[in-house]
Amino acid sequence: MCRTPTLLAILLLSSGSAALAQPGGETLIRGGDAFVDGQRRTVDVRIVGETIAEIGPNLVARDASTEVIDASGRLVLPGGVDPHVHIFGNETYDSASRAALAGGITTFANFGGIGQGETPIDPLNRARPDIAAQTIADVIYHPIVSDPTTTTADTLETLAAVGQTTIKVFMVRPTFDPAAAGFMATLRAALDTGVLTMIHAEDAAIVQNTAAQFIADGRGGLEHFADARPVAAEVAATQRAVAMAEATGAPIYLVHLSAERALRIAEDAQARGVPVYVETRPIYLHLTRDRFQSDTPGLYIGLPPLGTQSDVDALWDGLERGTIHVVGTDHVGHTREQKLDPSQDVARHRAGMSNLQVMLPMLHSEGVREGRLSLDRFVEVTSTNPAKLFGIYPRKGVIAVGSDADLVMWNTAETRTIRDEDMFSASGYSVYSGREVTGWPTLTMRRGEIVYRDGVVTGVAGSGELLTRERWREPEF
Ligand SMILES: [Zn+2]
Repeated sequence: MCRTPTLLAILLLSSGSAALAQPGGETLIRGGDAFVDGQRRTVDVRIVGETIAEIGPNLVARDASTEVIDASGRLVLPGGVDPHVHIFGNETYDSASRAALAGGITTFANFGGIGQGETPIDPLNRARPDIAAQTIADVIYHPIVSDPTTTTADTLETLAAVGQTTIKVFMVRPTFDPAAAGFMATLRAALDTGVLTMIHAEDAAIVQNTAAQFIADGRGGLEHFADARPVAAEVAATQRAVAMAEATGAPIYLVHLSAERALRIAEDAQARGVPVYVETRPIYLHLTRDRFQSDTPGLYIGLPPLGTQSDVDALWDGLERGTIHVVGTDHVGHTREQKLDPSQDVARHRAGMSNLQVMLPMLHSEGVREGRLSLDRFVEVTSTNPAKLFGIYPRKGVIAVGSDADLVMWNTAETRTIRDEDMFSASGYSVYSGREVTGWPTLTMRRGEIVYRDGVVTGVAGSGELLTRERWREPEF
């Protein structure tokens, strides 16, 4: 897809005065149904500069320079916070921001690996120039730990001191098992320095050995993906991750939990008071493993594999009951061609897919509208909870006086079919194309600036910022 005309149009639009927040400039959002104090209320919201200054009925514009936005008939929600996005390859902070903002997400995270001889601050520092030049959404950053000796109390203190307070560990990688004792030390150092450890919980030995056996048996094709990566791998790793949290007292955040059996393990731990926080991912709420029997199984490859309808039902139920705290995209900007690369098999494949633009509309449409998820829980799992868990609440995650003016106006009556050509991600397609979704963002504001309106991204690359986060403290939900 040629992006130049879009970029030109955006530059032209942005040169108008309305798109850029003036320091101290005032905006009034008038007459919307805003989610405030845990409920839906018809109120006005006054924004001064980047911040929410006043919430109440019948607010009066300060003077003629106030920009007044009519929100009557619109739902007004806090901007989404997606703590799980991977930006690399063809995707940039710019293209990912466009997808996120069009889909109501105003803050997202990226990850970067800690290399040999490095410390956790090194990948962060490497990412800073791209974030500064490209991002429109606000950003947080998670270093990935492959060698636990890189994460001592000293090196994590250095990371936390500059305002990034998470790391990620992949149990699924072959580097994990030989270093498991070292990762126990990582968890203890994280606890001591106020850092939250995110964990990809799949057992490396079970995953690798089973996939190799499938290939040896001539069943290496992607149609066998779910069987070649049995749920036992997620179950075993979830049990072990929970045990490590229980033994150390360190909080863990399980990314993209997919299976009912894994959820039950996390729920048991939570009931015992172990600090286990759970994220699930849109594909596990909207798709089942029969997709691997379609003509295009590659499109549906994500880790862990898609589950059964009973897994889907258990995850929706966990979201509503509060044992699942967050929905994160695990967005990856692979193109359709990359996802359908015929050289892939059950051991070597491109995992992950584009999801930033449609996660919230689909969760709203199939959750809130269908009665599977209350509006409170929708706001909590997509905004408030991740803001709390990742150290940016109440700056983000809530519509309140003093919070950043990250606001999304929704037309909950608008029905649209998801189409590849409407996607802003460099992936250029959606795995959900053809689905009818009711309820879409019509306007997105990031720190007081209108960055998306009626199908057009008006925010400028470089206007987003790397957020400084607080250290871990047990959140009140
Ligand atoms: Zn991921």
